[in-house]
Amino acid sequence: MNFLITSLIRDNIKKMKKYASARDEFSGRAKIYLDANENTIGSPTNQTLNRYPDPLQKQLRKSIANYKNIISPEHVFLGNGSDEAIDLIVRAFCEPRIDSLMIMSPTYSMYTVCANINDVAVLDVPLKPNFSIDVDQVINIATEKQPKLIFICSPNNPSGNIFPEEDIEAVIRNTNSLIIIDEAYIDFSDTPSWNRKIATFPNLIVLQTFSKAWGMAGIRLGMAFSNTEVIAVLNKIKYPYNINDVTANIVLETIKYPERKEKMVKQIKVERQRLMKELKDISVVKDVLPSVANFFLARFDDPDAVYAYLSREGIIVRNRSRQLHCEGCLRITVGTREENSILCDALMQYKNKEQ
Ligand code: PMP
Repeated sequence: MNFLITSLIRDNIKKMKKYASARDEFSGRAKIYLDANENTIGSPTNQTLNRYPDPLQKQLRKSIANYKNIISPEHVFLGNGSDEAIDLIVRAFCEPRIDSLMIMSPTYSMYTVCANINDVAVLDVPLKPNFSIDVDQVINIATEKQPKLIFICSPNNPSGNIFPEEDIEAVIRNTNSLIIIDEAYIDFSDTPSWNRKIATFPNLIVLQTFSKAWGMAGIRLGMAFSNTEVIAVLNKIKYPYNINDVTANIVLETIKYPERKEKMVKQIKVERQRLMKELKDISVVKDVLPSVANFFLARFDDPDAVYAYLSREGIIVRNRSRQLHCEGCLRITVGTREENSILCDALMQYKNKEQ
């Protein structure tokens, strides 16, 4: 594949000089640092946090690259959640009012939000009613409209399915766009990540996050894996200190114990199966859609009424019934065993309490 990534980058981004932070200028060992206007005495906390963090997160990127079997840290971008990576990708590659990006509804809404913020047109090539990619349409419309980016969320939010490798590969091979595969939920599936393919496909960006399987949504750490040119441009335009030291230190420590994450993932998968099975036996639940993520869609005759009822019971789920192909559907996150039992009990009581 003959693919020149630099030809996709916006001209102004190519030409601009990145913000040079104080810590960029000197990377060796120094006796004293009087260059960044920090409070040199210390911090009023247990941890010492008075110094700015490393703008390029060298240690953390190295350790994540090792853990993920990524060729080198130059193929790893770290963001304040994967949401930051989504926004930066749009800003790096899409010229406002000129360029477009492609999504496949129903999907994660941030792709459209970031496009809207940046005044970038959204080409929506909806998934088929069974939530599979309409590969021919995607390739036809991409060929005609040349979107800079194509977002593929796999496993998809809100449908919970993962797309077959051959469908994604057909899109990668037959378009001139950058393909972003958002794998926020990949750890809950039994399918390997696309990050093993970033050396094969120069137009591929893989997004992952510490917010889901790792159970660390509160610290905000997202990852993008891609070729070095894409990673360099994202690092060029990010805020200088986008990853704070508290987050970096926690992840450096936690990543040493992947078995802790694996244990939770196993538990969540067991609960997913149990909850889906129990819901299928509850009369108000018309259908439970298959999912490889830590959430799934459940179909009801009157989703608004069930949603309102559950809210009154103090149980919050996501009403997705107005999204394409999601008629009647509430999106339910797999909770703890106890939470899932409370949900099932409430749904079993639904008719009684409503009448
Ligand atoms: N991608 C998908 C598909 C998501 O569902 C989410 C969170 N809801 C994100 C990305 C963002 O995750 P974060 O910013 O927490 O990494």
